[in-house]
Amino acid sequence: MLSTFVITAAIAVLGLKIFNVFPIEKNEPAGDEIASNNDGEPVSNEPIADEPKPEPVASSSVLVTKATSSNCTIKNGYLMLINPNFTVETSFIATRKTELISLSYHYGIQEANRNNGDNLMDPVAAAKLYEMVNAYKVDYPGHEIMTRSCFRERGTNCGRMCYPTGTTDHHTGLTCDLIDQSYGSSLDTSLYNQHPEWRWLKANSYKYGFIDRFPSEWAGGPMSAPRNLNEVGTTGLYETWHYRYVGVEAATEIATGKYNNGQYDSLEHYLLSRGLVTDLINATCKAN
Ligand SMILES: [Zn+2]
Repeated sequence: MLSTFVITAAIAVLGLKIFNVFPIEKNEPAGDEIASNNDGEPVSNEPIADEPKPEPVASSSVLVTKATSSNCTIKNGYLMLINPNFTVETSFIATRKTELISLSYHYGIQEANRNNGDNLMDPVAAAKLYEMVNAYKVDYPGHEIMTRSCFRERGTNCGRMCYPTGTTDHHTGLTCDLIDQSYGSSLDTSLYNQHPEWRWLKANSYKYGFIDRFPSEWAGGPMSAPRNLNEVGTTGLYETWHYRYVGVEAATEIATGKYNNGQYDSLEHYLLSRGLVTDLINATCKAN
């Protein structure tokens, strides 16, 4: 009886093998395993092709190029884009420093935390910042905006909130982290959002050419998740205190969502919508 069962089972298994019912073993990873590099970013599993790739076809209409300071509108001027995909060289940062002025010396805007740089900013942006902090002071007596960190020569390497040298908006000379001293010196987004004065800043800064550079709407997920800089313009950050000069016209279009259905825009999405950036991941731009 038992031997009959064993023989029957063996025949059944052999039949299933012949008809390929059992899955074929592969050496590929399971579908939800994504290879990643040291930064946790996905890397391609595509095999390297043996044949040489064809040269790109030259065309007089090709205006798209890798963004560099010499070939790209958004690497100069007030719409300058620097982020982990659109990076700059240390020589660019050194040159930029020579073009900036001291907010403390020229406008009496003090830096709350003096070890973050020299409180430097582009002269045009600095004049507009002065206008903005004065308007704030008039509307909210007893409150005063101070800078915490403006131009930075070096980046930082301390996780999601930090950027290696060459990748931070703080190299533009158009940015300052701002604080209201009466809230204390802690940079805490939830704390800042509790204050009507700070909500005034987000609502009115565009009139002075400034934008909330890392608005909650474009954070691309919770701050506890990996940084998400996606192809449509999420920034991966939510920093209530980080204000960036882009000029009054662009700031107005960003704050009023001209290219974002009336909702607050991100600088990345705005530049993409205007065609000045052509690929946010591969850092290509429309050539000058
Ligand atoms: Zn900042």
